[in-house]
Amino acid sequence: MAEIKILKEEVVKKIAAGEVVERPASVLKELIENSLDAGATKIEIEVEKAGRRLIRVYDNGSGMQFKDLPLSIKRHSTSKISVFEDLERIKTFGFRGEALYSISSVSKIRIVSSANENEPAHYIKGEGGKIIESGKTPPIKGTITEVRDLFFNTPARSKFLKSDQSERAHLIRCVEDAACANTDISFLLKIDGVEIYDFRAARGDFSQKLLERAKAILGKNISRDMIFVSEENKDVKVRCFISSPGNLCATAMNQYYFVNRRPVHSKTIRQAVYSAYERLRGNRHPALVLFVETEPENFDVNIHPQKKEIKFLDETGVFRFIKSSIARAIEKNLRPVKILETPENAPEEGGHFFSKDKILPTFPPPAGHSSVMEQVSLFSPRASQERSDSSK
Ligand code: ADP
Ligand code: MG
Repeated sequence: MAEIKILKEEVVKKIAAGEVVERPASVLKELIENSLDAGATKIEIEVEKAGRRLIRVYDNGSGMQFKDLPLSIKRHSTSKISVFEDLERIKTFGFRGEALYSISSVSKIRIVSSANENEPAHYIKGEGGKIIESGKTPPIKGTITEVRDLFFNTPARSKFLKSDQSERAHLIRCVEDAACANTDISFLLKIDGVEIYDFRAARGDFSQKLLERAKAILGKNISRDMIFVSEENKDVKVRCFISSPGNLCATAMNQYYFVNRRPVHSKTIRQAVYSAYERLRGNRHPALVLFVETEPENFDVNIHPQKKEIKFLDETGVFRFIKSSIARAIEKNLRPVKILETPENAPEEGGHFFSKDKILPTFPPPAGHSSVMEQVSLFSPRASQERSDSSK
């Protein structure tokens, strides 16, 4: 019979890293969350070679004391929870104390941090999870976390990475998610020295701030005529900008879902959205930035190692509420007009709800008729997408 052995720390580390660090974007997501948890109002991100060579995040948050620096990359080291019951009241993004541990075990990491900007900062350098150097550096405000040569010691894992273009798209998406969910915070993203996004802290109320970011991210065509939805019942609050039925997209990639400001996948929310459009949709997709807020005890984020997939205690209740909130908002936005009998007036898609000679709801013309392509960066997934959207 095979002998039972306790795995070596080295092996355990790499296994743990496999769960948290799937690709460069998973590193970036964790680093941004740490900056947000540290109360940063400004986060600057630099990426080189699709994150394989470098991911650097500089925040102006609370920073760490020197004694905490080496602890931060240890397993289960966290300043965010201490007893199991805390899990039910999590308000921070992180809580497992696993991110820096996992990231540092498959990369070369350097963390510079200062809890007091008037005093020298400290740094640690680690390789494969071992600290190889530490010391003092000039003062900074907050923390710089630099992750180099991701998967340098687990070459098999880097083979699973997709093309640079695809990994970059994931990195960009990760910043877009953070920017939508944190409109009071400035984000700067540079990829290989090229500025991709420069989101300044937005002004105004929730919807104004969100719309400003949504416009920057989705572009002019897609964000045109979006409908704002804001409803709440005793358990759930939903707020979103969502495409009007006359301006749907060819793909489902312009959808940003959040629960308590965390980007999530939830079949329930997605199905609720799609069923709110019902027949209006054809085979096209709404663009949306949708926030659900509810008490942490009403859902479980713990079911997914990267905290993306969530499950609500009352999936049916959430489904019904979101569906009816969006359906009502769409209904309100349908403007009754007299449709003429000329075929040119038929909507391009969703023609099944068009019928001649009747007063029917109609919508603004479908997207993509603008002749001017917006200036989008080479790297932006927006570039190819807006092109495909305007060629439809
Ligand atoms: P978690 O976020 O789950 O606590 P991490 O491994 O991501 O675990 O981070 C470990 C700890 O290191 C955090 O709890 C926090 O105290 C500290 N830390 C990490 N990044 C930062 C940062 N940018 N600013 C301040 N503290 C940080
Ligand atoms: Mg964290």
